[in-house]
Amino acid sequence: MNLTFHGGAKEVGGSSITIETGHGKIALDYGIKVEEGLRNDLPKDLDAVVVTHAHLDHSGNLLTLADSEVATIGSLATRDIVSDLLMDLLKVHRLKGNPLPYASRDVEKVRRSWIAQERVGLPGMEVRLYPAGHVMGARMVHIKAEGKDVLYTGDFCLHDTEILDGADTSALPKEPDIMVMESTYGGTRRPSRDELVRDLLKSITEAQERGGNVLIPTFAFHRMQEMVRRIDHALESGLLRRYNAYYLSGLAERITAYFNEHTEFLGKMVQDDPAPFRYARVRHLKRAEQIKQPALVICTAGFGHAGFSRRLLFDWVSGEENAVIVSSGYVPKESPLSGAMDRDVIEDEGEKYPVRASVRQIELSGHADQNELVEFVRRIRPRKTFLVHGDAQQAEALQELLGTLTEVYVPSNGEQFTA
Ligand SMILES: [Zn+2]
Repeated sequence: MNLTFHGGAKEVGGSSITIETGHGKIALDYGIKVEEGLRNDLPKDLDAVVVTHAHLDHSGNLLTLADSEVATIGSLATRDIVSDLLMDLLKVHRLKGNPLPYASRDVEKVRRSWIAQERVGLPGMEVRLYPAGHVMGARMVHIKAEGKDVLYTGDFCLHDTEILDGADTSALPKEPDIMVMESTYGGTRRPSRDELVRDLLKSITEAQERGGNVLIPTFAFHRMQEMVRRIDHALESGLLRRYNAYYLSGLAERITAYFNEHTEFLGKMVQDDPAPFRYARVRHLKRAEQIKQPALVICTAGFGHAGFSRRLLFDWVSGEENAVIVSSGYVPKESPLSGAMDRDVIEDEGEKYPVRASVRQIELSGHADQNELVEFVRRIRPRKTFLVHGDAQQAEALQELLGTLTEVYVPSNGEQFTA
């Protein structure tokens, strides 16, 4: 079989790999780089695409297959959330004045092409999905074909979070011939989640004591529901003192309703709660004008490059009483949020904004860190491992550490391997 890397090699974004056997050809993920839009460089002569999870850097390019016969395989939650995210992608491009050549009926076609089963037989190939942690509905993909087996992790984590269990390695097949593993944090060890949450609450409390606004940009899907629930519980239990608290994002509001209805896709910690995402202290707002300051605001876009978070970032970044908390690990270098983390002044349409607010990165991530990645390899014992979804530095740091555990390779985009 041939394994070809089309995107997400030595980088984060645009993940896609194809596997070609004597019987057919499938893609594992079909992603875009959100800042670059749809792409024409991914193969379309496919029998199926297996989508690990709904993030657009793994699923966004499915729109380009809307008129094809290609089947999409992935979990039911991924199908439903992908539909929401693709609709939003169309809207974002329309609002920016560069509409995509697709419409809601194309999203519907993608949805109808979906085989939402955890086990699918294709000609000469067996595909099985396994929970991956990371976000609601995320799966790893195990493939058996031509006497070989391949495990593709997609994005994953081993640690449990407040609303989702980590990947259960005991359920996964061991000693695959080939494993393709993410390496976002291949060179990074993170403090425990408890420590990070304590750190988050401490930063918020400090800003509250200064009477400042707190801005937490985040992603509409999963990270938003997790963050709002966390803050809501802290306000309700007294871990945080009472404050005006809001979340803004129409998309997140829709996805939150889905989370309330489908707790079966989430962790054991929310199963007994009849409405785990109905909040007591954090209100949903439709417009930024409705914010009563000082306030704690959780909003999209996650990278602060658009929408409410961009606007509030420029409104609040020059006030020294304010705080901006970046909860994502990866922030694109060109985003204003990244600018606020690294520079004294940021610019918007020629206007300069001095960075006086406290800007802190507290990575409450759904990715495995270096320790988890090594532990995962130790438990799965793959013969050969390809590291993807990490910049070259992260992947190479991990490669060095994995040394004798498995044969490791860090591929480049466009490279092909025969197994
Ligand atoms: Zn992801």
